[in-house]
Amino acid sequence: MAEKLNPFEIAQKQLDQAAEILKLDKATHQILREPMREMTVLIPVRMDNGEVKVFKGFRVQYNDAKGPCKGGIRFHPEETIDTVRALAAWMTWKTALLDLPYGGGKGGVVCNPKEMSLREKEQLARGYIRALGEFIGPEKDIPAPDVYTDPQIMAWMMDEFSKLRGYYSPGVITGKPVPIGGSLGRNDATARGGIYTVREAAKYLKIDLKDAPTAVQGYGNAGSFAAILSKEILGAKIVAVSDSQGGIYNKNGLDPYDVLEFKNKNGTVVGYPNADKITNEELLELDVTLLWPAALENVITKDNAPRIKAKIIAEAANGPTTPEADEILHSKNIFVIPDFLCNAGGVTVSYFEWVQNITGYYWTLEEVHQKLDQKMTKAFWSVVEMYEKKKVNTRIAAYLVAVSRVVEAMKLRGWV
Ligand code: GLU
Repeated sequence: MAEKLNPFEIAQKQLDQAAEILKLDKATHQILREPMREMTVLIPVRMDNGEVKVFKGFRVQYNDAKGPCKGGIRFHPEETIDTVRALAAWMTWKTALLDLPYGGGKGGVVCNPKEMSLREKEQLARGYIRALGEFIGPEKDIPAPDVYTDPQIMAWMMDEFSKLRGYYSPGVITGKPVPIGGSLGRNDATARGGIYTVREAAKYLKIDLKDAPTAVQGYGNAGSFAAILSKEILGAKIVAVSDSQGGIYNKNGLDPYDVLEFKNKNGTVVGYPNADKITNEELLELDVTLLWPAALENVITKDNAPRIKAKIIAEAANGPTTPEADEILHSKNIFVIPDFLCNAGGVTVSYFEWVQNITGYYWTLEEVHQKLDQKMTKAFWSVVEMYEKKKVNTRIAAYLVAVSRVVEAMKLRGWV
């Protein structure tokens, strides 16, 4: 039977497994199974050709028991409300697992930013904030970048929100450029946080990562820095990388900086010299030690999981592995660092950025790196402890830690 690939159904299925182990009561389970609040908006934008195009935007505030909602905004042609719901749920577990004083949220706009001019993107970003302005804010819901949104888009959004409020409000959004209230170390934080978890996983599994063959699927913010830092910090050898157009492979190793420069110039890694062309599917099945899915959801399914050879899978993407694939990987002893642990470095430095915005006191890069390392390392070992205690796969172990914390907050607040 074909596996269900609706991300929200997957997120609910994962939660159900955790709820059963935790023996959650009906009302608690019911609250955690669905978003507490969600908004759909229409955003008219006058395009460069003079016509008005109407875009659809979403913001889902999944749960705010532990603090204001937090989570990125995607600009993607295939965005759906169910994807945003799933991502908002995963943000809830992510912030709880990292012990950040936040709940979870997510936003999205159905659009193809690759086909839009800078001016059109600016109008869309500002329109999104005008439409949702009263529902977000530093104490309510704090967006950030995600797939195909970047610091410049965050800057326009912060500016629009500040205009609506009538004063400079940097704490409304994170992932901003450094000169207007961004944090040092936010740009590579998602990958860097993942690197710290891979380092700990290698210690735990007693795997030597020096020159270990490594493949990275996706070469956006998370993927490109995952490749660069895997080489720089872990000493691994990057043998393959890819983007939405396809992949490249060289068993002797690729220079990830050089590949990034090539991609910035040509729009894709495909065509990079001195490398063989491979597909995204082939990349996932390479005989590597470390595999980073760093693109989109549902790339490791029950169909390809049996052929995956990596020893460690570091999920820089959100939702790359389906529940059935999880069971297959677990039975093959492949160690999965689940998404809401592995890629939590982004939101963790977002939290640091928000703290710096609120206090008006800015930290050094060293401070950011050191605090990020502490947070990631602690979260990693809390998952391993649960994994050993409950003998479940690593994702469910992470759920047990995170969900318990959200439930505790809901109980203390008298919701359930
Ligand atoms: N979009 C990122 C994530 O999925 C970052 C969220 C944030 O910084 O708030 O974790």
